[in-house]
Amino acid sequence: MGEETSRSERHRARMERKKAVVDAAIARATTRRGLLLVLTGNGKGKSSSAFGMVARALGHGMRVAVFQFIKGKTDTGEQVFFKTHAAIQWESCGEGFTWETQDRDKDIAAARAGWDKALQALRDPSVSLVVLDEMTYLFQYGYLSLEEVLPVIAARPEGQHVVITGRGAQDALIAAADTVSEIGDIKHAFRAGVVAQPGIDL
Ligand code: ATP
Ligand code: MG
Repeated sequence: MGEETSRSERHRARMERKKAVVDAAIARATTRRGLLLVLTGNGKGKSSSAFGMVARALGHGMRVAVFQFIKGKTDTGEQVFFKTHAAIQWESCGEGFTWETQDRDKDIAAARAGWDKALQALRDPSVSLVVLDEMTYLFQYGYLSLEEVLPVIAARPEGQHVVITGRGAQDALIAAADTVSEIGDIKHAFRAGVVAQPGIDL
């Protein structure tokens, strides 16, 4: 009993010290501004994290614009769900995976058309969150250049958040971002022969 009491007391003292540290860190964070977030890495969870932020933003009554590059698939759960929301603009800007289309000119045209639409959102102060899903591949394949995109992002309305997803985020993109998460691939069910599951993968 005495041992349990002293353990509880040590825990309480430790938590008290931790709370002081956390409270001080929270007190230091006073800046409010639009952020550029990059979600990269080989693991699963980049786009679904972006859609989690879309849900959060919509919950706060914010307007959101989503641009899905590369992928041609248009009946994912998130698209069906979010498209019905009045405060969202949802654009599918891809012809499909590059290894499916096998047509570079068509892919470039789709990427450029998507970027032209995204440009409007990145200039519109009433849009609070812009998601550029799978955008890193456009730079990787040379469909779009970072020299063209980064200045537009830098000049976006104050307070507007931008989320970019895709593997292999470029150094210049990482340098420009405020928050960067790299999701590691430890295991994926696909490698055990499991097909893409509705609600989990699409
Ligand atoms: P999600 O949309 O599920 O968050 P993601 O955006 O991180 O995934 P993408 O590279 O865009 O990853 O791939 C999307 C699809 O590929 C999803 O069905 C996802 O489960 C699958 N996937 C993602 N990472 C891997 C992986 N490491 N191995 C196999 N399949 C993967
Ligand atoms: Mg993705």
